Amino acid sequence: MTDDIDSDDTFSAQRDRVDAPIRRLFATYGRKHWFPLSVGVVASVAAHFLSLVPPFILGVAVDAIFPTGSSKPYELPLLPQAWIPDGHVGQFWLSAVLIATTFAGGAVGALVKGWGLNKFAQSIQHEIRTDTYDAMQRLDLGFFAEKQTGELMSIMNNDVNRLEQFLNGGLNVLTMIGVTVVGVAGILVYLNWQLALVTLATVPVVALFTHKFVQIIQPKYAEVRSTVGRLNSRLENNLGGIEVIKASSAEDYEFGRVTDSSQEYYDTNWDAIRTRITFFPGLQLSAGLGFVLTFVVGGLWVFGGAPLVFSGDLTAGEFVTFVFLSQRFVWPLAQFGQLINMYQQAVASAERVFGLMDQPTGLDVDDAAPDLAVSAGDVEYEDVSFGYDDDPVVEDVSFEVEGGDTLALVGPTGAGKSTVLKLLLRLYDVDEGAVRIDGQDVRDVSLDSLRGVVGYVSQETFLFAGTVAENVAYGSFEATREDVIAAAKAAKAHEFIEELPDGYDTEVGERGVKLSGGQRQRVGIARILLQDPAVLILDEATSDVDTETELHIQESLDALLADRTVLAIAHRLSTIKDADTILVLEDGRVVERGAHGELLAENGLYADLWGVQAGMLEEIPSR
Ligand code: ADP
Repeated sequence: MTDDIDSDDTFSAQRDRVDAPIRRLFATYGRKHWFPLSVGVVASVAAHFLSLVPPFILGVAVDAIFPTGSSKPYELPLLPQAWIPDGHVGQFWLSAVLIATTFAGGAVGALVKGWGLNKFAQSIQHEIRTDTYDAMQRLDLGFFAEKQTGELMSIMNNDVNRLEQFLNGGLNVLTMIGVTVVGVAGILVYLNWQLALVTLATVPVVALFTHKFVQIIQPKYAEVRSTVGRLNSRLENNLGGIEVIKASSAEDYEFGRVTDSSQEYYDTNWDAIRTRITFFPGLQLSAGLGFVLTFVVGGLWVFGGAPLVFSGDLTAGEFVTFVFLSQRFVWPLAQFGQLINMYQQAVASAERVFGLMDQPTGLDVDDAAPDLAVSAGDVEYEDVSFGYDDDPVVEDVSFEVEGGDTLALVGPTGAGKSTVLKLLLRLYDVDEGAVRIDGQDVRDVSLDSLRGVVGYVSQETFLFAGTVAENVAYGSFEATREDVIAAAKAAKAHEFIEELPDGYDTEVGERGVKLSGGQRQRVGIARILLQDPAVLILDEATSDVDTETELHIQESLDALLADRTVLAIAHRLSTIKDADTILVLEDGRVVERGAHGELLAENGLYADLWGVQAGMLEEIPSR
C-alpha cells in the first residue's frame, strides 16, 4: 500500500533499496535509547490501565454501599479484605480515596510516559536528522545536480519529523489501544461474560467501519501530500527566483501558478476533509448503538425481567461499570485507523531517510588515505576522460603545469572547461586517466587535504549569512581577527570593509545580498588568500563586472595569484593572455595549446575567439 503513496517522488530508486525500514529504525536508533523507551511504554501501560479502574470501583461501591437491592459485599481484586472497613460510610470513603489515588497515579503515569516517549522520539529525531545531513553532505555533486533542493529539504524536515510523530504518538496510541481493549474486555468478561459478549458485539462493527475509512482516506491523504510537495516546490522556486520574476514582470504569471497549486491543494484537502468529517459522526453512531444495546440488555437483566433468551443476572453496580466501560472502546478503535496511517507514513518516511543515508557517494573515498604532500605544486592531467552520464564531456585531455605557473583554459561555452577543473578538486572522479598533484593521484590522497591544497575562486562567490569577518574566515576557522584583516588587506578589500556600517562585523545578509557583486568577489578572494592554497582554480573570476570593479578585482587577484599554480578559465581572453600556457578546448578535446602569441600565429580556433572578442570577427567561422 505504501507503494502508491509517494510514487511520484524521484527517490523511488533509493526507497526500493531499503528493507524493513521500521525494524531498522528500532534496531539502529531505538536500541540506543532503550531506557526512555521502556520507561515510556511501562508508564503508558500503567496510566491507561489506571484510567479503567474508577468505573470498576464505582460499580463495586454502588452494589456494596448504596441501597440498590443487590447488596453484594465490598470486594476488590488485589486489595486484602482486612483493609476494607465494615461500615458503609468507611467503605464509601475507601472508594473515594481509591478513586482519587488512581486518578493521581494516572496523572503521574501520564507525566512519566510523556517524558519517556518524548525523550525517546526527540533523541532519535535529532540523531536521524544529523546523520542524514552528514550522509548527504558527503555525496558527490552529481547527486545534487539530479535532485531538487526542496526534495532533500523535505527528507530532512518532513520525513524526519514524521518519524518523530510515529515514535511518540504511535507508541502512545498503540499502548492505549492494547491496554484499553484487553483491559476493558478483561474487566467486562470478569464481571459478566454474557453481557460482555453483547457489549463487545459492537467492536467488530467499529473496527470494520474504521478499516473502511482508512482504505478510503489513505489515497486521499497521499494525494494531499503530493500537492503539498508541489506547492512547496513552487513557492521555493519562486522565492529563489524572485529577482528574475520581478525583472521579467512575471508577477501575474507566477501569481497564477501559485494560485493553481494552492487551489489544487485546497481541492484535494477538501476531499479528504469531507471523508474525515463524515467518519467521526458515523463512529459516534456506532458507539451510541453499543451504548444503547448495553443499556437495554444490561438494564433488563438488572430488573430480572427480560423476556426469552435475553434473561440474565446483573447487579446495578455491574451495570454501571458496563455502561461506563463500554464507552471506552470507541476512541481507541477510532485511533486504530490513525495508527495504521501513521505506521504507513512512517514506513514511507523511513524508506526515504534510510535511502538517502545509504546513497553511495559517487566518489570512492578511502578514509585511511594519506594526506597530499605538496612540494612544488605541479599539476598533471594524463589522458583524462570523463562524462556526467554516458556521453563523454572531456576526452583524452593531457597537460602539465609546473608549480607557480599559470595555465588558462579557453574555448566555446560547453566545451568542458569547468568540468576539467572540477576533476582536480575531485568533485567528480575521472572515468579514465589520472589527475595528479606533485605526482600523487588525487584519488589516492585524503579529500580534506586535497581540498586544502586546491583553492577555488568562482565567478559567483557564495557568501553565507553572517558577518564579513566570518565569511573571510570560512574554511580557516582558527584564523584570528588579525589574520582576517591581513587577508582582506592583501585582497584590497580592507578599505571597503572598513566603510561598511559595522566594518568586519557587518552582516552580509542571505547569500551576501547586502554586498555588491564586486565586493562579494573580493571577500571571496580574501577567503582564499587566508586559506593559502598551493594550487588555485580560477573560474571566470572577472566576467560580468564593470571596468572599475574589474580593476579592483584584478588587483586583489594579483596578490592571490603570485607564487601559486593557477588553472584559470576566462571568457575574456585579455585577462589570460599572459598565461604561461593556454589550452584551447572544443567539444571536450584539446585542439590547440601554446602561449598567446603562438596560438594567434596558428590562426586556428584561438585566433578566431580572439578575433570575435577584439571585434574583428562577427562570429566564430565554421571550419
Ligand atoms: P564550459 O565550462 O566549457 O562552459 P562545462 O564543463 O560547464 O563547459 O560543460 C561541459 C558540458 O557538460 C556541457 O555540455 C554541459 O551541458 C555538461 N554538464 C555540465 N555540468 C553537468 C552536470 N552536472 N550534469 C550533466 N551535464 C553537465
